[in-house]
Parts: sequence; structure tokens; C-alpha cells
Amino acid sequence: MLHRKTIVSTKLITILKDSHQPLSVNQLITELRKHQLTPNKTTIYRILEKLKKNQEVIEIKTSHGTAYYEYATHQPHHDHFICNSCDVVYCLDQCHLETNKINTQALLPNKNFIVQSHEFNLHGICASCATN
Ligand SMILES: [Zn+2]
Ligand SMILES: [Zn+2]
Repeated sequence: MLHRKTIVSTKLITILKDSHQPLSVNQLITELRKHQLTPNKTTIYRILEKLKKNQEVIEIKTSHGTAYYEYATHQPHHDHFICNSCDVVYCLDQCHLETNKINTQALLPNKNFIVQSHEFNLHGICASCATN
């Protein structure tokens, strides 16, 4: 018999993989409930911590401190727009730094530094908040 945490973890990964936008812990809990899974927040955070450590999941924090999670390894690297008003995270189609071939290595204090990843997130007001 599968351990309960394994079932939750497997389902959580499927939900993240199927989602077209990053999800918060509350949104993940809502989705898991649809599959009759009712884990507490601590369990979810533990699973996400492990996935983050394995670089399977990316965490995006809004200016209000809400964390959103996105499955990392099945989609190309891209950056995000984060709305300061409604706290929603939008995926950008592509990465500005890669499209424009910006040499991040040249920004470093010295050439012995090694860039392993980057984030180029934009913070502002989304269209629906701007018109309200
Ligand atoms: Zn907004
Ligand atoms: Zn994204």
C-alpha cells in the first residue's frame, strides 16, 4: 500500500505539471481536495521544499510574500510578471535575457563567478487591476 504522503506528492506534481500558471499553496490544497486528498499545509510545504531542492519546482514570491509554485523541468525557462495589486503571477512567453542574448557573465564582479540560473521578474499592475 502506498504511503499517504506519496499519494499526495504524486498528485501534487501532476497538478503542477498540468497547470498553465503558477499555483499558490491554497490553490494546490483546493485542487487536491477535488481528488479527495486533504493534506495539511505543513505536508504541502514539506513536499514543495523537497521538490525545490531537487530543482523540480520553482518558487515565485509576490511583493506581499505569497509564494507561487511552478513545475520546472517540462517547460522552457521563462520569467514572470507579478501584479502588486491582486498578487497574481503571469508567465511571460520567453526570457528577455535569452532572447536578447544578454551576457549575464559580464555583469558579475569577477570572472571566477559562475551563473547557474537567473530570474528576471517584472513587478507592476496587471491589466484588470489597472482598469479598476
Ligand atoms: Zn492585478
Ligand atoms: Zn511561469
